[in-house]
Amino acid sequence: MNDPNKPLSEYSIEDLAAELARRRSGRGPTTLSEMELEAESLKGDIGSASIEMRLGRLTPEDSRPKPCPRCGRRVRVKAANRERTIRTLSGEHRLVRNYHYCEACQFGFYPRDHLLDLPEQGSFGGGLTEIHLGRSWRSTRGCAAG
Ligand SMILES: [Zn+2]
Repeated sequence: MNDPNKPLSEYSIEDLAAELARRRSGRGPTTLSEMELEAESLKGDIGSASIEMRLGRLTPEDSRPKPCPRCGRRVRVKAANRERTIRTLSGEHRLVRNYHYCEACQFGFYPRDHLLDLPEQGSFGGGLTEIHLGRSWRSTRGCAAG
């Protein structure tokens, strides 16, 4: 379990049990830096598992037509279950969602992306986007980036 970007859900039960045994063995960190690193690792594991759980609990999308964001006409699904990878503060996650295309506007959209407040392009989730924007906003004003 050394890859911080690997979702917890991709580890086998044996891997998770071995990691739990290692953490319970008392051979844990001895320096403050090691303790901090372990705490950050645990936060990452819990955060990643939390995001995976919440994404997994999303109600599956139905195939009914959805309103076009531009004209409001209800348009059918053009492609079901398209996969998207997003990077969040808790690691990388995948989700599937339906793609709709409005012929009148010649505009395609993903209602689930809109519901999750995802940007139309890129792989960053909202939290990471805000951090990046916040940092660049501060750096243009001569403040220390943090
Ligand atoms: Zn439209």
